[in-house]
Amino acid sequence: MSTKILIIGACGQIGTELTKKLREIYGVENVVASDIRKLNNDVVNNGIFEVVNALDYNQIEHLVEQYQITDVYLMAALLSATAEKNPAFAWDLNMNSLFHVLNIAKAGKIKKIFWPSSIAVFGPTTPSQNTPQYTIMEPSTVYGISKQSGERWCEYYNNQYGVDVRSIRYPGLISWVSEPGGGTTDYAIEIYHKAINNKKYKCFLSDKTALPMMYMDDAIKATVQIMQAPSKQIKIRSSYNLSAMSFTPDQIASEIKKHYPDFKISYEPDFRQKIADSWPASIDDSYARDDWNWENEFNLENMTFEMISNLKAHLYGK
Ligand code: NAD
Repeated sequence: MSTKILIIGACGQIGTELTKKLREIYGVENVVASDIRKLNNDVVNNGIFEVVNALDYNQIEHLVEQYQITDVYLMAALLSATAEKNPAFAWDLNMNSLFHVLNIAKAGKIKKIFWPSSIAVFGPTTPSQNTPQYTIMEPSTVYGISKQSGERWCEYYNNQYGVDVRSIRYPGLISWVSEPGGGTTDYAIEIYHKAINNKKYKCFLSDKTALPMMYMDDAIKATVQIMQAPSKQIKIRSSYNLSAMSFTPDQIASEIKKHYPDFKISYEPDFRQKIADSWPASIDDSYARDDWNWENEFNLENMTFEMISNLKAHLYGK
């Protein structure tokens, strides 16, 4: 049976680039992109697109049957900063969309699920340097609580019902193609836009706040890789730690200054500082490297070069 993919939340920061990559790999006719919003972008215009509400089991089931879907990538969620503003809705969306997809797999209607977790599963009591795969997990945000609960349910559905669900704890993701969706690490994207256009940036985190980060190309590569790996290699069915780099606002500003010597950064931490303070500074991802050969390509230096060149060429025509 050939691979037929449904992406839910395809118009988001990750979904936009994931949809493009999956269409390249599996063929445009084998990838169904879906989202609650219908934007005028490549996701909608360059292949199959359906409007769907991830909270509606029947709508998802209908699409799965209509297109004979084998693999679902569930990207719809409320992100960390937005979730704190609407905890009850965040819990509803983040948990029930996952249950719907897990239950469709349990019923034998799809073969494989990708569901993203986050470094937000860790909390203030977690060792923050080189955070291990297995450690104290007491998340203090509603987003983190929903991701940690999701991980437990993924593992449960795998153990009890043999559901082939695969997951990665993404760090903060940095991309130039689409807008970030309301996360605590969004500053590391905004800063490039401001460096190019204004040569100055007011950061909502403090100068020494170190967080784990990753360039989007690496995140997409990891997502494809974990889904293509033979099932027996995916030994962890909660979610894998995944890492590429860790930096502070101060460090990213220094890297940007190599391209824009006049660039200035100032700091005005807001409610997102507290979220960032509860997360790890860096991540140990040796299980992903050992089990399915994960390897990152981008660090702060080559990512900064890519971000600035691509934003200038494709967005700002400079
Ligand atoms: P995003 O907010 O940019 O995109 C989410 C998409 O889901 C949006 O296009 C939105 O319209 C859609 N959506 C929202 N509610 C929906 C619903 N009811 N039905 C259908 N679609 C709906 O988020 P993202 O950054 O692309 O993140 C995708 C996933 O990756 C999320 O689970 C997120 O928690 C996780 N993640 C992201 C990051 C990051 O840095 N971007 C880091 C860690 C984990």
